[in-house]
Amino acid sequence: MNTPTDDILKNLTEDQLTAVTHLDGPMLVVAGAGSGKTRVVTRRIAFLISQRIWPSQILAMTFTNRAAREMQERIGRLVGDVPRHVGTFHSCCARFLRQYVEALDDGRTKDFVIFDADDQKALLKQCLNDQPATGGLLPGAISDLISRAKSACLTPHDILAKEAWDNAETVLEVCQAYENRLRAQNAVDFDDLLLLVARLLRERPAIREIIHNHFRYLLVDEYQDTNHLQYELLKLLVNPANNNIHATGDPDQCIYSWRGADYSNIMNFEHDFPNAVIVRLEKNFRSSEHILNVASRLISNNLNRIDKTLIPAIAADDPQKVRLVTVGSDRDEGLWIARRIKTLHLNGNPYRTMAVFYRTNRQSRALEEALVRAAIPYQIIGGLRFYARREIKDLLAFLRLKVNPADRISLERVAAFRGGVGPKTLAAIEQCAREQHLEAFTLLCQPDFAHRWQKKNAKVLDFANWCRQLHDLPCTPVGQAVAAVHDFADFTHHAYDREGTPEARQENLQEMITNAIHYEREHDQAGLNEFLQEVALVADVDTHDLDRDTVIMMTLHCAKGLEFPYVFIAGVEEDYLPHANTVADPDQVEEERRLFFVGITRGREEVALLNARSRPSWDGDWGRQPSRFLRELPMDDIIHTTFNVNNPTVPKPTFRRW
Ligand code: ATP
Ligand code: MG
Repeated sequence: MNTPTDDILKNLTEDQLTAVTHLDGPMLVVAGAGSGKTRVVTRRIAFLISQRIWPSQILAMTFTNRAAREMQERIGRLVGDVPRHVGTFHSCCARFLRQYVEALDDGRTKDFVIFDADDQKALLKQCLNDQPATGGLLPGAISDLISRAKSACLTPHDILAKEAWDNAETVLEVCQAYENRLRAQNAVDFDDLLLLVARLLRERPAIREIIHNHFRYLLVDEYQDTNHLQYELLKLLVNPANNNIHATGDPDQCIYSWRGADYSNIMNFEHDFPNAVIVRLEKNFRSSEHILNVASRLISNNLNRIDKTLIPAIAADDPQKVRLVTVGSDRDEGLWIARRIKTLHLNGNPYRTMAVFYRTNRQSRALEEALVRAAIPYQIIGGLRFYARREIKDLLAFLRLKVNPADRISLERVAAFRGGVGPKTLAAIEQCAREQHLEAFTLLCQPDFAHRWQKKNAKVLDFANWCRQLHDLPCTPVGQAVAAVHDFADFTHHAYDREGTPEARQENLQEMITNAIHYEREHDQAGLNEFLQEVALVADVDTHDLDRDTVIMMTLHCAKGLEFPYVFIAGVEEDYLPHANTVADPDQVEEERRLFFVGITRGREEVALLNARSRPSWDGDWGRQPSRFLRELPMDDIIHTTFNVNNPTVPKPTFRRW
């Protein structure tokens, strides 16, 4: 009879087996794309559990919720038990922080809320409004500065010392005001989730000891994309008594250095964790020979790398060459892709086996139109995120306010939704609340508000009455709470002035309620706050619904870690790939090459690269040049065709080698 360990250890190469069965001490698996790194992480967790390690003693971190969910499912299938602490850096840290945040003594409580990028900008806008002169400073630029500082474990001051900003003093004041207001509103931003946990581990030895004793094994996938903060956090999380850290990564796939990722973390692993066992995986189990040759040749053009080759593990009978298709225009590009998808589908391939990648989100529109015209079902990953939709953000603001009355950003949103109370009145209410040592929302909800407020403004009294009703709605069970708030807010009669139909908005709101009901079924003890935390941490790529048979469209950045039998990469042209903003810096061009490499290595059987000779452009210049990366590819592994239906009138650019 098969033992669970047989299943865990089957279909592994000798090197993979070494990595999976490694028990104590640091280990680094550094290997190329598709060589089974993620398989090793999953199997190793299952193996540890089969060796009677408690699932709760294992902490495994990766970059997307989807990758984490997939890992959990696979482990569940292998050993039945699913470790609770398999998640993204952010979700694992949110859980720690919820438990220990009060030890920081900075005023935050375990009911803290997580501010997303929009909330962060809204808060910064308030901070900027309070400055007498801001010299045209934009909230986006400051949130970027704050995030860069936090991910590098620096202060905004450190960054400003190195960069030339016009009004550095004001910027620093705004950054400080932002931090103060976050704390006062019992809120954290995404980077804080990691930063505050690192601070707890560094400054609170008792908590560090609890965590070290609790987690015996720490695993990290995609280590090449850790930024400095994540790297520091990992070092603090590892118990120095055993150094049980297991990291897997591929320096050639580091594509987030613009967000502070630093692949030298991989190079320094042996130095940081002496006596680390290093395993290299040579074989690629994903892609056909031609795809691998193209990807390998491309990446060999990066000067700043350690050479390694990708050897195909399985020799296909008749591997497809990589297709390079030069099309006349963006319309031809969409048309060619749609036709190829149709053919593949008619040959019995489900739509979900096909993915279309592009460098920037705005490229998706023309591609989308082509798929709609051809009646091909598709999902776009990471367009306007579901949770960033206006009606969803409104509903979330209502819910957040119930959990955390200090959340001023949500109070403003709710007030704007209801109407009648503008920012000035809100500021006056806040002032009155401060005098009474209350939060503004708490003051509004007081039964004797009219007496406390004293001014006889009917609109404010009406708003307060409405807030009190909102406050009195139940917070559990989660599904009912979301439905009750939705009904109370009366979205059907709310006038939204932006695009989108009322029906679509209602569908989204219904989806949100269904989501909450599901959550309630899966987490019977969890409250509204836990639900809101999960919602706040859902990343773009997690909106992928695997149950629907659709083509997947996404940016190259979202494609990391995934694989598809059929891959199309659109817009392999100068200014897209490499992106126009990167061409002046050789390091950034190398990163663009890695991004292209990540895209190509997602393909199992067929990869098609498309470049258009012309595209509409705002400045009237429609001519496009093929990407410089195309010249680096091996001709023997490529079939080059042209496709020109929409007959552009621009002159043909010439390839140097074709
Ligand atoms: P990436 O660098 O893109 O993240 P990876 O190194 O994590 O890739 P996996 O996703 O783990 O690679 O594996 C790639 C594919 O190869 C998967 O479909 C996996 O199931 C398969 N695979 C890995 N190892 C083996 C093996 N020993 N035998 C058969 N198939 C394997
Ligand atoms: Mg992987």
